[in-house]
Amino acid sequence: MAEADSSERQQPVTSALSQSAQPSPLPKPVPTTHHVPCIPHTPHVAALSTCPGRGKIAKFISPEEMTSRDYYFDSYAHFGIHEEMLKDEVRTLTYRNAMYHNKHVFKDKIVLDVGSGTGILSMFAANAGAKHVYGIECSSISEYSEKIIKSNHLHNVITIFKGKVEEVELPVEKVDIIISEWMGYCLFYESMLNTVIFARDKWLKPGGLMFPDRAALYVVAIEDRQYKDFKIHWWENVYGFDMSCIRNVAIKEPLVDVVDPKQVVTNSCLLKEVDIYTVKPEDLSFTSAFCLQIQRNDYVHALVTYFNIEFTKCHKKTGFSTG
Ligand code: SAH
Repeated sequence: MAEADSSERQQPVTSALSQSAQPSPLPKPVPTTHHVPCIPHTPHVAALSTCPGRGKIAKFISPEEMTSRDYYFDSYAHFGIHEEMLKDEVRTLTYRNAMYHNKHVFKDKIVLDVGSGTGILSMFAANAGAKHVYGIECSSISEYSEKIIKSNHLHNVITIFKGKVEEVELPVEKVDIIISEWMGYCLFYESMLNTVIFARDKWLKPGGLMFPDRAALYVVAIEDRQYKDFKIHWWENVYGFDMSCIRNVAIKEPLVDVVDPKQVVTNSCLLKEVDIYTVKPEDLSFTSAFCLQIQRNDYVHALVTYFNIEFTKCHKKTGFSTG
C-alpha cells in the first residue's frame, strides 16, 4: 500500500496458538479505528522508486536527515511502526519461540530474513544458533538495525543488506531457512508475500524451511448497530449538515478495529489457506465463496476477517491468531 502511514500497520490483536508463547497477553485495545483505503492497484505509484508491498521509498537518505515528508514515503523508516510491531508480544514472542525452541533446526544454518526491520528476527535466528543470517531491508530503519546488531555483538553473524529483496545480491547462492514477518491487514494487504515468494524461489535450497509456512484467512459476521451508526450513518448529519456522499465512500472501505466476541453472530469460514512452500503469486488474486451459518436471531452489520499463522516445522505446535 503506497501511502500507508505508520498507524495503518497494526497487529496488536494477536493471540498465541502455541502453549509455549509466554506471556500471552489479552488483546490490547486499539485506541483508534484504522482506515484502510481501497487503492489496491496504483500503477503510477509503482513507477516511483518503490519498496514493493509496503510503502513507497522516495530516496535513500540517512534517518537523521529525514523529515516528516520522507517518513510519509518511507513509513517503515520511523521507529514508531517498529515499536508497535515489537510491542505486539504475541507476534514477536511466537517468532522467538519458533526459533529458540527449535535450536536443532537453526544450528549452523544460513538464514535469510526478508524485510528485517530493526533486525529482531535476525537476532533471534543468530541466538538460535544460525551460522550466518542475511537480513534484507529496503527502508532506512536498516541503518539503525546495523547499529542494534553491533551493540548486541552479533555483527559477526548477521549481515544486513539495504535494498529491495528483488534487487539485492547475496554473497551466497542458497539459504537453508527463510524467516519473514510479511503479514498485513486481512493477511494479504501490503502484498509483501510476493516478496517472500520471490526470495523463496531465488534463494531457498531444495528442502529448505520457511518460517512461518502456513497462513489461513477466516471470515465471521457481526452485529454492531452502534458501530455502524458511529462510522457510517454519522455522515448523514454532521453538525446539522448532510454529508452522506462521504457515507457512501466510507461504507466501501474496510476498517481495522477490535471486535468484541459477543458481537459475533455466525460460525467462522475459511476463505483462503496458504502453504508458503508452494504458493505462487497468481494464487494471491482470488475469489472465495463462503457460507456463514447464522447462530442467533440478530442483524448482520459487518463481515470481519482474521488470520492464523503457523510454524509447522517446530517441535511443538507454534503459531498465533489475530482472532
Ligand atoms: N522483521 C521485522 C520487520 C517486519 S515489517 C519485525 O518482525 O519486526 C516488514 C519489513 O519489510 C518492513 O521493515 C519493510 O520496510 C520491509 N520490506 C517490505 N518489502 C520489502 C522489500 N521488497 N524488500 C526489502 N524490505 C522490504
